Amino acid sequence: MAGVRVVIVGGGIGGLAAAVALRAKGIEAEVYEQAHRLGEVGAGFMLAPNSLRVLERLGLYDKVTESGASFTGFAVCDADGTEVSSLSLGGGDGYTLFGMHRADMVNLLVSCLPGDALHLNHRCVAFTQENDRAVVTFESGEKAEGDVVVGADGIHSVLQQYVVEPRGPVFSGLAAYRGVLLAERVPDWPEGAVRFWNDGTKTLLVYPVRGGELLNFVAFTVADEQMRESWSAPGDPRKLAAAFGDGWDSLARKVISQVDATFRWGVYDRESLRQWSQGRLALLGDAAHSMLPYMGQGANQAIEDGMGLATLLEGVSTADVPHVLVRYQTLRRDRAARFQQGSRFNVELMAAGKAPILGMPWMYDYDVEAEARTLR
Ligand SMILES: Cc1cc2nc3c(=O)[nH]c(=O)nc-3n(C[C@H](O)[C@H](O)[C@H](O)COP(=O)(O)OP(=O)(O)OC[C@H]3O[C@@H](n4cnc5c(N)ncnc54)[C@H](O)[C@@H]3O)c2cc1C
Repeated sequence: MAGVRVVIVGGGIGGLAAAVALRAKGIEAEVYEQAHRLGEVGAGFMLAPNSLRVLERLGLYDKVTESGASFTGFAVCDADGTEVSSLSLGGGDGYTLFGMHRADMVNLLVSCLPGDALHLNHRCVAFTQENDRAVVTFESGEKAEGDVVVGADGIHSVLQQYVVEPRGPVFSGLAAYRGVLLAERVPDWPEGAVRFWNDGTKTLLVYPVRGGELLNFVAFTVADEQMRESWSAPGDPRKLAAAFGDGWDSLARKVISQVDATFRWGVYDRESLRQWSQGRLALLGDAAHSMLPYMGQGANQAIEDGMGLATLLEGVSTADVPHVLVRYQTLRRDRAARFQQGSRFNVELMAAGKAPILGMPWMYDYDVEAEARTLR
């Protein structure tokens, strides 16, 4: 490995994907994660064409097809199951999307990194920089030094305060129940189908992950309290079933009736950041652009960030780093902001009983590597 050395704080999908992209470009990158292990509560997410393109360039497409579930179609329905709009997916001219279990995605990315590039049990507590280097300090007192530090430490980012004046997360007033269940418990689920039901106040999204072995569900309801944003607040399946009872499509109720365990999650985002870098420090993923999950793009944008950053940093000298990170901000900020705003707009559309904006060419046809090359 030659060129600059990158210290990444945060081993979520954003930080890990950035490390894989940087190393693929011959750049030394190590990840420091606060958790003792990269365990994961059961939840899935959608991999969209814009990040699949990145994963394909990194040689991971086959692995994604092995561990994900390919979608055949996306139907948006009223609560009673009446179809409002649909998107044909996979094969022919349709876009290719995969449902992935987060743990499978994390494992896939970790399998691409050498063991000594991932440091668990390292909680970053401080950051400093001088002209020619940047240093992060961990809770233990240990330090890590690089030419670049990437803050991929999620919505509650510790590193964000070294780039911009901190502003708190914005609570949407919505709560999400998330989880997975064995697909065999809903035998009439159409293969590869994504279904989204909406009654104007509650929505339910269901799709397969892990080769169709599991069904992932996300149910959004109005929160009855100001909730802390958290991965692991257990939810009550009986309350979930009560929220999606009479009047809801029988297929939706069948899924909900099979839920034994779920996590309840306060849904937050943040205002778009004006600045994404300061000297040798750059923000990435939710630390830079946390968004409401109504375009299914938070992780997809984080994967784009990593490839964009890696493409811009390839072959640069340590002296060039601050300029290159400003270019990274130019590359990423407005695109991510469009998804942040679009996701909020989708909430308004759904509250009006309308179909959310999904599957537009500007979302899926974007090639972050090609765009980054034009800025080099
Ligand atoms: C209900 C719901 C549905 C979603 N669906 C989708 C979807 O379909 N598609 C999609 O693309 N996105 C989706 N998302 C969004 C997506 O999950 C996030 O945008 C994405 O996981 C962000 O990744 P990240 O790596 O930036 O942050 P995180 O996943 O939050 O990872 C940050 C990591 O940094 C670590 N960390 C934090 N602080 C420190 C510290 N001080 N020191 C060291 N480590 C630290 C954390 O432990 C964590 O591992 C959804 C989100 C929700 C809530």
